[in-house]
Amino acid sequence: MPESPSKKAKAASDFTCDNYVHGRFVAPASGAYLPIESPVTGATIGKVALSTAADIEDAVAHAKKAFPAWSGLTVKARAAIMLKFHELMRKHADELADLVVLENGKNKSEALASVLKGNETVEYACSLPQLVQGKTLEVSRGITCTETRDPLGVIVSVVPFNFPVMVPMWTVPIALTTGNCVILKPSEKVPITMTKVASFLAEAGVPAGVFQVHTAPFLWVAAYRTKIIHGQVEAVTSLVDHPDVSAVTFVGSSPVAQLIARRCRAQDKRVLALGGAKNHLVALPDADLELASKDIVASFAGCAGQRCMAASVLLLVGSGTELLDMVVHRAQNLTRGTGAGQVGAVIDAASQKRIIKYIDDAEAGGATVLVDGRPWATATKGQGYWVGPTVLLHTNPADAAMHEEIFGPVLSVYKVQSGEEALAIENASPFGNAACVYTSHGGHAEYFTRRFHAAMIGVNIGVPVPREPFSFGGLYGSRSKYGDMDITGDGCVEFCTHRRKVTAKWSIHEGSLDRANFAGQM
Ligand code: NAD
Repeated sequence: MPESPSKKAKAASDFTCDNYVHGRFVAPASGAYLPIESPVTGATIGKVALSTAADIEDAVAHAKKAFPAWSGLTVKARAAIMLKFHELMRKHADELADLVVLENGKNKSEALASVLKGNETVEYACSLPQLVQGKTLEVSRGITCTETRDPLGVIVSVVPFNFPVMVPMWTVPIALTTGNCVILKPSEKVPITMTKVASFLAEAGVPAGVFQVHTAPFLWVAAYRTKIIHGQVEAVTSLVDHPDVSAVTFVGSSPVAQLIARRCRAQDKRVLALGGAKNHLVALPDADLELASKDIVASFAGCAGQRCMAASVLLLVGSGTELLDMVVHRAQNLTRGTGAGQVGAVIDAASQKRIIKYIDDAEAGGATVLVDGRPWATATKGQGYWVGPTVLLHTNPADAAMHEEIFGPVLSVYKVQSGEEALAIENASPFGNAACVYTSHGGHAEYFTRRFHAAMIGVNIGVPVPREPFSFGGLYGSRSKYGDMDITGDGCVEFCTHRRKVTAKWSIHEGSLDRANFAGQM
């Protein structure tokens, strides 16, 4: 098993995240690193390799070389390795959760839950021998058609900062178990936890070159971030463009998702690129107030609002006064920190600034700030990046906070006259990730679930993540999803494989066995 550099350095909280290539941690050819900052304290906790095209060549070449032997194993053999990996993830879940808290800023229980949820996809991958058996049928008398699922080759997976383990685990176990080699590109903001996980995959028996980590293949990180903010994303990586990379999964912001999807399509590569979100909750007058108020607050403030499934807009049908009071009360009582039930940090200074600007602008535009999270930022200046839960009551649905992704613990509330008005607002969103209706009436639930435009719908559940074996993914053609299929479950199996069809006819007829000389062979 390779020794993870993160392990050596843990005591000093000085992590070095090198690339993980061909079963070894190696420094980047450039010798250059980016600092890693903890959002909890603002302190530098390590450094992450900045890769060059030469490093990428190296990783892709090793993956390509490892592919024939890995894909040549039976799916049962690969699933047996995944079973060992599952056990290692379970055994080290607490340690991994501590790393998630440190590098991402989640509270400890959220971090642990995210590791365990990531391991549920590993569990699903372990059951693939039962699920991808292929099929055989005698399609005409004497002619048999057999279909099997073959791996694609080298899959690159680019992931965001908000779930350092769980999001990589959406793709990696399924891609590996279906016989692909994977090069993971974690967010340069949170590379530590997956660096650790790489050593568990090796310990479980994943051969060198089959799973590799390329930490930050962008020498121009600062430059492209500026471009994204100004909506002019242009640069892309040689990792995605490499001719020996067959397919790419991406999870992150919409501008980059769109960029990656377009580049891959132009090169005839299979691509699935999940983007940002703006999720609407609709509370009907018959909602269970206790259940709804608790769930709404958990949805918008949990993980400091840095979830693509987080509630962002609450549409109150009717006055909704009582429900709003309860939401405000619960949000006001939340505390800051990384303990159970507390609201964790936001990822970095740029994020904190962006979130606060949305609150400032909404207030300047006439929204009422019912719960104000800005004082957390002032109270913690120089000690990490914090924004408290914020509830805005809008009178103008055109406010930016009502329709742009904020990605922080901010809930925009807007009162509507009817369910149809709520649906019209939700349906007009260019995103299409999640939506939820709060009601005690089955018929009302049915009406909304059929008319929401988002792809992942909740009934009295504000974070409606479809768990395994169901597939996770927003609406195709919206800013939440570019590309094909889904990122977990059977949608991911479909993404990671192509269907090989063999049609066979054998001309064995009476007497042919007698004529053939099978002596000594039967
Ligand atoms: P991001 O788009 O800034 O970065 C995502 C990944 O892409 C990172 O690894 C980053 O290094 C890389 N990247 C950034 N710019 C790139 C470029 N020009 N070319 C190639 N790679 C590039 O996103 P983020 O800030 O890390 O994550 C937050 C976003 O992710 C939010 O918009 C959130 O909604 C979204 N997200 C979506 C889902 C989903 O399932 N739809 C899940 C989680 C997060």
